[in-house]
Amino acid sequence: MSVSYWRRERSPVRQPSCDVVIVGGGITGLTSAYELCQRGMRVAILERHTLGSGASSRNAGYLMRGMAESYALVCNHLGRDTAKLVWRFTEENLTLLIERYSIDSLDSFHRKPSILVAMSDSEAEELADSERLLCEDGFETHLVRSGSDSLWRSLQPTLALVNPHDAALNPWQLVQRLRDGLISRFGDLATIHENSEVVGFHPDPSGIVVRTERSEYPCNRVLVCTNAWAQELLPDLGARIKPNRGQMMALRAPGVRLDASYYLNRGSEYLRQAADGSIILGGKRTHREGEEQTASDATTPEIQSELERYAKMVLQCDFKVIARWAGTMGFSPDGLPIIARADAQPAEVWFCGGLTGHGMSLGAKTAQAAVQTMLGEIESPFPADRFREKEPPAGLEPAT
Ligand SMILES: Cc1cc2nc3c(=O)[nH]c(=O)nc-3n(C[C@H](O)[C@H](O)[C@H](O)COP(=O)(O)OP(=O)(O)OC[C@H]3O[C@@H](n4cnc5c(N)ncnc54)[C@H](O)[C@@H]3O)c2cc1C
Repeated sequence: MSVSYWRRERSPVRQPSCDVVIVGGGITGLTSAYELCQRGMRVAILERHTLGSGASSRNAGYLMRGMAESYALVCNHLGRDTAKLVWRFTEENLTLLIERYSIDSLDSFHRKPSILVAMSDSEAEELADSERLLCEDGFETHLVRSGSDSLWRSLQPTLALVNPHDAALNPWQLVQRLRDGLISRFGDLATIHENSEVVGFHPDPSGIVVRTERSEYPCNRVLVCTNAWAQELLPDLGARIKPNRGQMMALRAPGVRLDASYYLNRGSEYLRQAADGSIILGGKRTHREGEEQTASDATTPEIQSELERYAKMVLQCDFKVIARWAGTMGFSPDGLPIIARADAQPAEVWFCGGLTGHGMSLGAKTAQAAVQTMLGEIESPFPADRFREKEPPAGLEPAT
């Protein structure tokens, strides 16, 4: 978004200085703030709308192990070590959210396996390979060929791979819990500024100054956690991240029972039953791929009708659509996050994002790694220069 010259002309209010300004108040921004405060640092979160107004409160609520693609495919395209690292990250992410924020006490939280479903022989082969590789690498999983809930009765999948220890919840409750966890523990170190859009940074004798329309925030470091909107503030690094819309609906479908959170057609469709019994269904982005490469969070009749058609096929009963919505994901070229210092910016401007449809499952752990990287405690597990060496493999962009 551009800023009117006339509004900029007013002299900005200089805010008290802090150690780190975090731009973006989603899962990544909020959990990064916690990591920094744990180290005694003073942090300001600047969010252009309200906390969670990006993808973090608009998603499907899966806390799922792995990525959209199968383990076998990720091993093949990105290497086995990378696959192992990401799968471990997603397991540790859930543990971290439970241990630090007690998300298992939220009324929407429930432990339910997530299940990747194969509808064709080739997908079944891929899942069978994934199961073998996952077991070899020490991940608990198994294959199933039958089930008794509504999805198995209607679709009769060829094969499915089970992530037995996954969970799901209402993502807006998660955002609220992340905010409350931060403020109750570190209210003396962290401040949150909503309706504060960052419009740029400039170097200052004391470090960096972060500008919003109304204020200036002097600090030593900046961590940009704007995910799908990365390019607006960081044109070079952010060009790697492409906004992609995900559309969803919630349904009342009496009599329907889903025993797992399902992931079909490599994440092109996904559905689960929430703790209150409603069915949460999303995807079909690939049905109109070009149009869905947008940062707009408006729903469209085309994708919504596709989702309804799909719901009819899977649920095979009368249902009522009780909500429709959309959100914006930030896709990286290889589906992995990026944690890197931003080129062409004042020193110590960092980026953490590109969570590619899996930020619920990866966000807190990725934020932890971002803070460790920024503070020089580790090397980035997801550097940006990995793209300079070779082009990312074709076909790995997830369908979520
Ligand atoms: C429909 C849908 C379904 C999904 N389902 C799942 C799922 O089931 N499981 C899963 O793991 N993941 C899922 N995801 C992905 C997940 O929601 C995201 O990966 C995750 O929320 C990203 O978190 P974030 O904090 O990095 O980004 P966001 O939550 O998008 O936060 C970025 C924030 O930056 C703010 N911002 C942008 N520019 C500026 C600026 N200039 N100044 C200040 N603030 C700014 C935005 O307003 C926004 O609040 C889904 C996403 C969508 C859209």
